[in-house]
Amino acid sequence: MVLHNHDEVVLLLGAPGAGKGTQARFLAETLGVPHVASGDLLRVHRQKGTPLGRAAQEYMDRGDLVPDTLVVDMIVDRLDEPDAVRGALLDGFPRTLPQAQALDWRLQQRGGRIRRAIYVEVPTSVLVERLAGRWLCKTCQSTYHEMFNPPMTEGVCDRCDGELYQRSDDRREVVANRVAVYLRDTMPVVERYDCLGVLQRVDGNQSIEAVKAALLNAIGDNEPVPA
Ligand SMILES: [Zn+2]
Repeated sequence: MVLHNHDEVVLLLGAPGAGKGTQARFLAETLGVPHVASGDLLRVHRQKGTPLGRAAQEYMDRGDLVPDTLVVDMIVDRLDEPDAVRGALLDGFPRTLPQAQALDWRLQQRGGRIRRAIYVEVPTSVLVERLAGRWLCKTCQSTYHEMFNPPMTEGVCDRCDGELYQRSDDRREVVANRVAVYLRDTMPVVERYDCLGVLQRVDGNQSIEAVKAALLNAIGDNEPVPA
């Protein structure tokens, strides 16, 4: 697939733990377009003190959410930069249906569109396993994972015999809730792009290399058949 202009966007969607970060960089490189992460945009605008960044800061100072339209403005502003001459890969946005509607509308006004939305699918139980199994050493900060990198003795650091603990963010019930919130908010976005005939699902529950191959397939030249 070749993107043609500033306003053609490929979306990468996936729950926390789906391994989206690595894959986003790979996909952007393959497409020859910048990897645009909405979280980074917000940070850069605030650091530089741009008008958009200052507007966002005012909302945050009041403890309010940054409005979707403001984030969409930042994305559109990013699409105007020279390295996005053939579009961009957007990562981390939209997460909700109203965000998707705001983004689609702005792109449409500019003659652009979502060229493809790729959803990296991983079963909920696997997401929770991946995110929740992390343990840290109290003494030397070494990290372990219950399944992928377990210590020799449960609860004890291999390197220094220190005690292992879990950060509250890594606790199973916290992680399960984070995944549930993502799915509740973002499945309507996945369904929207499915209805619009631009969605490709990729099985994220396989090796990194196999996921890469599936992503390449998902951006193949064959346009998906509209539903
Ligand atoms: Zn240790």
